[in-house]
Amino acid sequence: MSDSDCLFCKIANGEIPTDFLYEDDLVVAFRDINPLTPTHVLVVPKKHYDNICDNVPAETLAAIAHAVDVVTKAEGIDKTGYRCVTNTGDDGGQSVHHLHVHVLGGRKLRGDMGEGM
Ligand code: AMP
Repeated sequence: MSDSDCLFCKIANGEIPTDFLYEDDLVVAFRDINPLTPTHVLVVPKKHYDNICDNVPAETLAAIAHAVDVVTKAEGIDKTGYRCVTNTGDDGGQSVHHLHVHVLGGRKLRGDMGEGM
C-alpha cells in the first residue's frame, strides 16, 4: 500500500482531521474509533512503516514508548496498568497496515491475551 492510500498516513499528516492526545516530530496518538476498553489509544508514527519489523528506526521506537508514557499518565492508567499491542499481519489481526500500538486500559483486562481482551 502506498502512503497516499494509507488511512493512518492521512490521519498523522492532518489530511483527516483528528484530535491528537499527543504529538511530536515522530508520532501522534489519538483515540481508537471503536474502543475496546475505557482507554483505547493508538500511537502511530508519522512516517509510514507497515509494521513493527519494517526497519523502524530506534528513535521512532523510543518516541512511541515516550508517547505511551505521556498518554497513560494523562489517562490516569499508568499506575493501575495497561496493555500495549501491535497487531502484525493477517493472522495477527492487523487491519490497518501502518504500524500502530494499541494502548488499552481503564479496566481489568483478561490475562490470557485472548479474543476480546
Ligand atoms: P488493527 O486492527 O490492529 O490494525 O487496528 C486498527 C485500529 O484502527 C482498529 O482498532 C480500528 O478501530 C481503528 N481505526 C480505524 N479507523 C480509525 C479512525 N478513522 N480513527 C481512529 N481509529 C480508527
